[in-house]
Amino acid sequence: MPDTVPPISPANPLTIVMYHYVRDLAHSRYPQIKGLSTERFEGQLDHIARNYNVCGLSDLLAAVRVGRPLPPRPCILTFDDGFADHYTTVFPRLMARGFTGAFFPPARAIVEHTLLDVHKIHYILACTQDSAALAREMLELLAPFRRDFPEIATDAQLRAEFAIANRFDNADIIFVKRLLQKGLPDPVRLAIADELLRRLVGIDPSVLARELYMDLPQLRCMAKAGMEIGGHGWDHLWLNNLTPEAQQVEIRQTVGFLRQVLGHDPADWTMCYPCGGYNSTTIALLRQSGCVLGLTTRVSLVTSLDTPYELPRLDTNDLPFLHG
Ligand SMILES: [Zn+2]
Repeated sequence: MPDTVPPISPANPLTIVMYHYVRDLAHSRYPQIKGLSTERFEGQLDHIARNYNVCGLSDLLAAVRVGRPLPPRPCILTFDDGFADHYTTVFPRLMARGFTGAFFPPARAIVEHTLLDVHKIHYILACTQDSAALAREMLELLAPFRRDFPEIATDAQLRAEFAIANRFDNADIIFVKRLLQKGLPDPVRLAIADELLRRLVGIDPSVLARELYMDLPQLRCMAKAGMEIGGHGWDHLWLNNLTPEAQQVEIRQTVGFLRQVLGHDPADWTMCYPCGGYNSTTIALLRQSGCVLGLTTRVSLVTSLDTPYELPRLDTNDLPFLHG
C-alpha cells in the first residue's frame, strides 16, 4: 500500500456491491429465480480480487470516524436477505480468499421461519412461464376484492401506474411485483400472493422459508469466522412508509435480533434499509440505537463519506463476471 492513500472522492471512489441469491441455479429447484450463478459469482470474485481491495464495514467506519485511510480501490461486499445461499455458497468462497463479507438478514424470517412477501413474489415468478398470463391471473384474483375495497383503481389505471419495465424486468413482471409489494391494500395483496404461491409453487410457505433462509446457528458461525452481520429490519418493511413509532419498534426489534446473533448488544452496527426505504426520522432513530452506517439501494459508487447513513451501492450486475 502506498504511504499516502487519498480519501474517498470522485477520483478515488469506494465500491459497495450488493448481492441477493447466489446459487447453482441450473441444478437448483427453481432455476428461473433471478439470481447469480455460483460460477458467475466466482468469476466476479476473480475480477474483484484483481481490481480491488476488499475491506469490511469496520474499515469503512474507521475511515468515517477518524479518517483512517481505506486501501486503494476499496470494495465492500454486501449480501441482503439472509438466504441459506449465503451460508452454503458465499461464506466458504469468501473464507477461501480471505475476504470479509457483510450480511443483512431480515430478522423475523430467520427467527420465525416466515416467508417474506418479496420472496413469495420471486418464487411465483420463478414458477411461471408466461408473465402476461400471470398478470391476467392476478387481476382475475383481484376482481372479487373490489366490492369490499372500492378504492382500488381500475385494471387499466393500475397498469398505467405500475406496469413499467425497468432495466431488469419487463412490464408484466414489474406490474405483478409492484401490485403485490405495495400497489394494493395489505389484506388484498397478501391474499392474492398466497393464492398465487399455492397455485404456482405449491409448497407450504413455512417449509419454503426453512429452505430459503439461514438459521441463527449459521449466522453465529459466520460472525465467529469474522463475517459482519448487520440489520435489515424485523419485518423487511419500507421504513419511510411507517410512523416514527412503528419505525422505532422495527429498529428495536432489529437490535434485539443482532443481540441474539452476536451474543451481546450490537455496537457500531450497520443498517441495510429494507427495499432501500428510509427518511430523516429513520436516520435520527438509528443514531440513537448505536447504528453508525446505512446502506441504500441507490445505484452509485461512494464518492464521499459525508453521509454515512446514505451509502449507495452497485448491483452485482453492474460489475463484470470475468474468470481469471
Ligand atoms: Zn432485502
